Amino acid sequence: MTRFDPAKGVRVAISRSVLTAVFDECDRYGHVETGGRIVGTYRRGRNLDVTVTGMIDAGPQARRAVTSFFQDGEYQEGVFREIEREHPDIEHLGTWHTHHVNGFPTLSGGDIETYRRTVNHPQHNLDFWYALLVTAKVAGPDRYRVKHYLLRRHDDKVYKIPPKLVRVAEERAIWVPGVTRGRPQAAPASSIESDSASHSRQERRAFDDQVLRQLFPNLRPFFSEAAQCLLWKGSISLLDHSSADVVVVESVSEGKTGYEAMVPRKERERFPVAARAQDETPWLAVRRLELHLNRLVAGLGN
Ligand SMILES: [Zn+2]
Repeated sequence: MTRFDPAKGVRVAISRSVLTAVFDECDRYGHVETGGRIVGTYRRGRNLDVTVTGMIDAGPQARRAVTSFFQDGEYQEGVFREIEREHPDIEHLGTWHTHHVNGFPTLSGGDIETYRRTVNHPQHNLDFWYALLVTAKVAGPDRYRVKHYLLRRHDDKVYKIPPKLVRVAEERAIWVPGVTRGRPQAAPASSIESDSASHSRQERRAFDDQVLRQLFPNLRPFFSEAAQCLLWKGSISLLDHSSADVVVVESVSEGKTGYEAMVPRKERERFPVAARAQDETPWLAVRRLELHLNRLVAGLGN
C-alpha cells in the first residue's frame, strides 16, 4: 500500500460553491464513481498556495462504474478554453473523484499512476497536481468527507495535505457546472431537472436563454409560429476562425423537454455529415454541436 507523506508548505483555499457543486454531483451519482476537473490559480512564495475557484464536470461522454471513472477530456478542454477567455490566469490544477461509493479510503494505485503520468507530462503546465478525493457520505451540513493530495513533478512521493492547511473560502467560484461566468450561484445543471417542479417553464426558458447567450453571443431566440416551439438562430465561432450557422430547437420526447442543435440546410455543403447534437439544455446541445463541428473543421472526421 502506498505511503502518503504529509505535504509541507502547501495551503489550499477552495471556494465553497465549488465544494457545493462537487457534493451535488456526488448526490447525483450515489452508486458509481464520478468526478471532474479542478481549476483555479496558485502562488508560490514561502508556501505553495493553491486556490480552487472552479470545477468542470466530467462531460457528456464520461464513463462511470463502481470502481472506475473516465472523464470526457475533449468536452472539458472546450470548457476550459471557454473559462480561459474570461480568466486568462486560470490553470488546470488537478482533479477530483469519488470513492465513497466503493469504500476505498485513499487514492488507489491506478489513481496515483495516472496522476504521476499527468504531472510528469511535458504538456502539463504546472509542476504539481492537486487531487481531491471524496471518501465518505456523512450526515449533517458537511454532506461528505474529503481528502486532499498533491503530487509533484519528478517526485515519486504522494503528499497528503493536512486538513488544517485547507480552508473553505467564501469568494465566488468563477465556474461550476451548468452555469456560466459570474453566475455561479445559480442552479447547476444537475439540479435543474429536480427543481423543474418549482421553476416555471418560463423562468427556465429565460435562464436558458441568458446562459446560451453568454456562451454564444450570436444566437438569438425566436418563437416559431409554424413549429409552435422556441428556437434560437445565429452563428457560433469555430476553431478555424470561421463561423457556422446554427439552429436550436426545443424538442419534447416522452414528456421531457430537450434541445437539439443543428446546422441549417445551407451549411450542409460545408458539413456534409448531418451535424446535430441533443441535450437537456440548449447550451449543452450547442456546445456538443460546437465540438462536433470543430472536429470536422480540424479534419478529424466524426
Ligand atoms: Zn480512485
